[in-house]
Amino acid sequence: MSTYLDTKIEFLKGVGPNRAETFQKELGVYSFRDLIFLFPFRYVDRTQFHLIKDARTDGDTLQLKGKLVSLERIKGKNNRSRLVGMLKDSSGFMELVWFQGVKILEGTLKEGEEYVVYGKVSIYKGKRTITHPEMELAKTAGNAAVSKAFAPVYSSTEKLDNKGLGGRGRRNLVQSILSKMPANALPEIIPDYILEKLKLCSRIEAIQWIHFPQSEAHKTLAINRLKFEEFFFLQLRMLMSKQIRLAKLKGIEFSKIGTFFNRFFKEKLPFELTGAQKRVLKEIRADVGSGVQMNRLLQGDVGSGKTIVGLMSMLIALDNDYQACLVAPTEILAQQHYASIQEEVKGLGIRVGFLSGSVKGKKRTQVLQMTRDGDLHILIGTHALFEPTVIFKNIGLAIIDEQHRFGVAQRASLWYKNREMPPHVLVMTATPIPRTLAMTVYGDLDVSVIDELPPGRKPISTVHKSETHRAQVVEFMHKEIKKGRQIYVVFPLIEESAKLDLQNLQSGYEALLQYFPKPDFQISVVHGRMKAKDKDMEMQRFVEGKTQIMVATTVIEVGVNVPNASVMIIENTERFGLSQLHQLRGRVGRGAEQSFCILMTSYKLSKEARERISTMVRTNNGFEIAEADLRLRGPGDLEGTRQSGVLDLRLINLVQDTGIMNTARHYAQNILEKDPRLENPLNARLRIHLSKLMKNKNHWGRIS
Ligand code: ADP
Ligand code: MG
Repeated sequence: MSTYLDTKIEFLKGVGPNRAETFQKELGVYSFRDLIFLFPFRYVDRTQFHLIKDARTDGDTLQLKGKLVSLERIKGKNNRSRLVGMLKDSSGFMELVWFQGVKILEGTLKEGEEYVVYGKVSIYKGKRTITHPEMELAKTAGNAAVSKAFAPVYSSTEKLDNKGLGGRGRRNLVQSILSKMPANALPEIIPDYILEKLKLCSRIEAIQWIHFPQSEAHKTLAINRLKFEEFFFLQLRMLMSKQIRLAKLKGIEFSKIGTFFNRFFKEKLPFELTGAQKRVLKEIRADVGSGVQMNRLLQGDVGSGKTIVGLMSMLIALDNDYQACLVAPTEILAQQHYASIQEEVKGLGIRVGFLSGSVKGKKRTQVLQMTRDGDLHILIGTHALFEPTVIFKNIGLAIIDEQHRFGVAQRASLWYKNREMPPHVLVMTATPIPRTLAMTVYGDLDVSVIDELPPGRKPISTVHKSETHRAQVVEFMHKEIKKGRQIYVVFPLIEESAKLDLQNLQSGYEALLQYFPKPDFQISVVHGRMKAKDKDMEMQRFVEGKTQIMVATTVIEVGVNVPNASVMIIENTERFGLSQLHQLRGRVGRGAEQSFCILMTSYKLSKEARERISTMVRTNNGFEIAEADLRLRGPGDLEGTRQSGVLDLRLINLVQDTGIMNTARHYAQNILEKDPRLENPLNARLRIHLSKLMKNKNHWGRIS
């Protein structure tokens, strides 16, 4: 059924093929519908005018009202002319400049008339100027067909502006589509019972009002309705795809708990599990025993004890005659897991293997062979495990540590490592994802949370110091080393400024050599530009306590466990993101000793950097930090959000709209619980709209 809104944009009066092409290229707008679903990002209150004397040049757009006292065409150097006008209001003068459409404008603008002028003030040749302002005669501006009170402002580009498709031109086009729109062009997609319950406006009202609100109240109604709609359908889609996955994907059933698990629990477990660890283990046991494939995300702050939960889950797989694997993001971390797990299962008759890029030749062949023959119970390693040459006899559980380091495709490759049925997948992450985000990003994964640290941990004490305190910091380091502690000193290193950063690290290292001379002191250096072999050797020296100080870049960020290291010094703290700082701090506080984190910065700090640092000083709670990070940076920069579709959200603000999000999520859950296939006639609108959405977009089908 082709409808009014599916009409090609070129057939809209005032557009035509040429401008239609610009619309397509710049905005992806092909039809009437596309255009009216691009919403304004703000509104100008048409009843309010700024005074010229108050106009600042910091990028704000404003609306002035004044007399056009002069208008003059000026020839430039390259023979191109520009049009320069002067606007006067009761407070002063403002220059107006046009480079495009000079001829037409010269004919339409009239000296001596009063205009409403709208645009962005900048400095041009030393003068405050508005370039390409929108001009409307003051006497007609108020009673245009367009809304009297609020005028929509759409995001635009230079190309759109040049074709008259920014600003006013765009407003008129949207207005013209909406004014001729038949009543049935935008059928309702939300059932009446929800509209009534939540007092939402209709879809057609929402679209009219979001472009041309007659009042503040209409604006709010429209935005809230559309935000709800956006998140509600996202949640319905995610929850339904989870249903489909659960229905389709039969999983290996681990029906029993056997000797491996029980002996480990009785003879080996070196401590009492925390309540949270026990709860999560129960959740995992229920999953793997259900006959449905498990796809579970295990979130737990750094040091919360995820590894042991992972290990015990692997033992359940072994008890049911299946193999298990553990993938870590770095060689160092994989090695560490390998060493500690081997130690922990000693005497239980479990064969553990290791594989990474550095395992070569005969050794590699042997590991691969043993994995394929089922001679290895557990294989631990790096992303080398994703390679197709790694074939298991019968893998039942795949664990991925610190998932944000891996792409979706890599994770998915594990699914095919068992030819009969996909193995259960447990993804462990210490990047705490705020609740609001988790429910969007991982809407179709099950999430377990370890929200409790093992007992006896002393909270890490965090302080902020600047260069003036250097001597004091060095003295403190001496004291801690004397007590037998080890210290990390971390420098930033990013690709764009790698050379300078390395120099920085080098001179920091040399300064430390002065303060901590050989042979009394030993200092390790590790950074990403070193050969893997040298890196591991240096790391190993620190792990074994042969060096007291480890100078490093963020390569040590993830997972490394040196309980005796109790001081973390971060240089140029202002250059790190919040979640990264939290990860780094998590490297200490792992032993029984009081641990410290010292955030070194320069004097000059941006407001945002200040807030990051004060957040770090104030709290050790990863979730609180993640919320702050989300607030400061927005979801675009958060780990793991890129492929999630969250960024496609047009209206929902993940930080501010939690109320609407919770309501939408709640409604979506309730509806699907009672009516999983949306067969109830009351939900017919949902079924119809969802099937349309699914046809259009297939990309959200599987998030794993
Ligand atoms: P993460 O969640 O960051 O991966 P780990 O699994 O590395 O944390 O655990 C950090 C440390 O805490 C390890 O040394 C581990 O042995 C210890 N640990 C884990 N669980 C407990 C517990 N219930 N009681 C005491 N120590 C524990
Ligand atoms: Mg870990």
